[in-house]
Amino acid sequence: MSWLTNFVGPTLKRWISPRVIREHQWVTCPQCGATSFYRDLDANWRVCPHCDHHLTLTAARRFELLLDAESWARIEIPGAATDPLKFRDAKRYGERLKDAAATVGEAESVVVAHGKLDGAGVVVAAFEVQFLGGTFGAAAGEALVAAAELAALQDAPLVLVTGSQGTRVQDGAFALVQTPRVGLALRKLAERSLPVIGVLADPAFDPVSDMLMQQADIVLAEPGARLGPPAADPFGETDTPAFLAPRAGVIDARAALAAGRVDRIVDRRDMKAELAATLGVLRSPVPSGLVLPYSPKPMIIVADTTPDA
Ligand SMILES: [Zn+2]
Repeated sequence: MSWLTNFVGPTLKRWISPRVIREHQWVTCPQCGATSFYRDLDANWRVCPHCDHHLTLTAARRFELLLDAESWARIEIPGAATDPLKFRDAKRYGERLKDAAATVGEAESVVVAHGKLDGAGVVVAAFEVQFLGGTFGAAAGEALVAAAELAALQDAPLVLVTGSQGTRVQDGAFALVQTPRVGLALRKLAERSLPVIGVLADPAFDPVSDMLMQQADIVLAEPGARLGPPAADPFGETDTPAFLAPRAGVIDARAALAAGRVDRIVDRRDMKAELAATLGVLRSPVPSGLVLPYSPKPMIIVADTTPDA
């Protein structure tokens, strides 16, 4: 039996795994229409080599981008995705969750890891947009609360990376109550003077991301990242040209910067260095250079003795 489990099983799995197939695919940039080899695009952190358009990045690659190699670990989220309302449309919600977990390789649409960013401890929570469109439900709320609690426990800053197409309708009211819960968890970090940095990555179409961007101390945005109300089809492909068509109420990173909702637009490939610099400033508010005491010279008042004309 061992050859069945050791050889046939893994080989079959390799054949049917969508990841392996993607490795050999060409990807068309939705912005400029140029094609790139999947592997080359992935090596460039999914930034189009022709026009610098930032395609959506998985949570796993996001951790590899932002955290020091071999310094980080994911945390297990309490209360994995369930089906509290026994929701069913074309397919049972429970089945959708199982299928998404099998295809994407994540348990939910928010993934949390802790580790080192340029040598300093940090907690990173990233949306996984491929998991049911990164829709925000009860388990995702649980993940963000756990991330905030872990940051408080470790006395570390929290970095939140967006990537959601809306609220998870299948969770009903359980999804809606997450916004104030997450808000409270973030407020506890503010009370302890622990910085919260928001990274606006495309798309951010759920109310929780909107609230995260408002409560974060500093918001860095990727070029072209969009913020706004939910898309009509929350399970649609985020990188298709149709999905990139302008919609009412949606603003991009540049408009968000002009409106004061974003502090700086940063290329994805420079994001780690920018985060390290920002966190460095926030961690040591005292200037590291030599501080000279200020001692003003006594003012000498000279009487005006010139005669009046
Ligand atoms: Zn392009």
